[in-house]
Amino acid sequence: MIPLNGGDLHINWQKELARAFTAPDALLDYLGIDPEPWRPGFGARRLFPMRVPRPFADKMRPGDIHDPLLRQVLPLGEEFAEVPGFVTDPLDEHDSALPGLLHKYRSRVLLVLRGGCAVNCRYCFRRHFPYADNSPGREGWREALDYIAAHPEINEVILSGGDPLMAKDEQLATLFDALEAIPHLRRLRIHSRLPVVIPARLTAALRARLARSRLQAVLVLHVNHAHEVDDILADALQDWRRAGITLLNQSVLLAGVNDDADRLCRLSERLFEAGVLPYYLHQLDQVQGAAHFAVDDARATALMAQLLARLPGFLVPRLVREIGGELSKTPLDLGLEPC
Ligand code: SF4
Repeated sequence: MIPLNGGDLHINWQKELARAFTAPDALLDYLGIDPEPWRPGFGARRLFPMRVPRPFADKMRPGDIHDPLLRQVLPLGEEFAEVPGFVTDPLDEHDSALPGLLHKYRSRVLLVLRGGCAVNCRYCFRRHFPYADNSPGREGWREALDYIAAHPEINEVILSGGDPLMAKDEQLATLFDALEAIPHLRRLRIHSRLPVVIPARLTAALRARLARSRLQAVLVLHVNHAHEVDDILADALQDWRRAGITLLNQSVLLAGVNDDADRLCRLSERLFEAGVLPYYLHQLDQVQGAAHFAVDDARATALMAQLLARLPGFLVPRLVREIGGELSKTPLDLGLEPC
C-alpha cells in the first residue's frame, strides 16, 4: 500500500497514535476489502479492543484478507472459542512484587511502564492483564525504584508494558536518570513493538539519550513477518545501531502469519539487513481467545530444523516457551546444532 503520510518519520508519533484505526470496517475499507463476510467476528473487539496505526496498515497488501499483518490485528469470531488450556493469565503474572514491577528472574526486573500499546495484537498474552491494578502512580514508582536499589542481585531493568515507548521521551529520560543512579544496574532493556507500527517513534532525542546512558541500552523489537520492516523502519534502525544501541528481535510463532520456513528465513534476513539480530521465536502463550494462532510443538521444531539447514546460526532465533514460575524461558529441544 502506498503510504499517505503514515510512514513519514517526521510526522509526530502521537498524532499517528490518535488517528489509528479502531473499527474493523474502517480498516478493511482502507484496504479495499469488503467487510461484510467478516462482520460477525468484529464483536471480538469487546474482548480486546482493536487498534491499528496507519503506518502498519500501509504495510498490508490491499485486497488481501489473508495478509499476514492484517491477521495479527483483525478481530475474528475464533476469539470467542473456549479451548481447554487457554486461560486469562497463562504466565501467572497477575500477582506482581509491587504494582508496576514484576521480579520473575533473579537478575532482572520488569517495569510495566504503560498499560496501553499502539497496536493491539490479537494473540497478546497480556490481553487480559489488569493494567489498572498495576499502575503505580508517582509514589508507586518511588517504591519500585527503592525495590531495585535494595536488591543488588538485579543488574538489568526491562521496560515493558503494554508498550513502554508509549511514554513520552521526557518521561523516559526522567526514569533513565533514576535508573542510572542505581550503581548495581548494568543494562537497560526496552521491549517495544511501537517502532514497528509507527517508525516515527524512533525519535532522534530518544536515540541520543540512550546512546549517552552509562547503562548498556538494548532495544528488543517485536516483528513477526518480513513485511513489517519497510525501508523507513530499516533506515531508522540502522541509525540506532550506529549509535551503539543493541537491536534484537523476538517473534511469536503464529499460524497463518509466519508458520512457514520461507517466511521465517525472509524475516531473519530482513531483520539483519536492518541491523537487528533475531533472538527468540516464542511458542504462543496459551491465552484465552488466541488458540487459532497456535502451532503445535512438532511442527514448530520441524520448522526450526529447516531454518538451521538454511540460515547461518546467528540468524536462527531460539525457539522457546515461557512457563509461569520457571526461572528462565524454556528452549524447545531440537537435537540439532546451528552451523
Ligand atoms: S504490542 Fe506487545 S504487549 Fe502490546 S498488544 Fe502487541 S504483543 Fe501485546
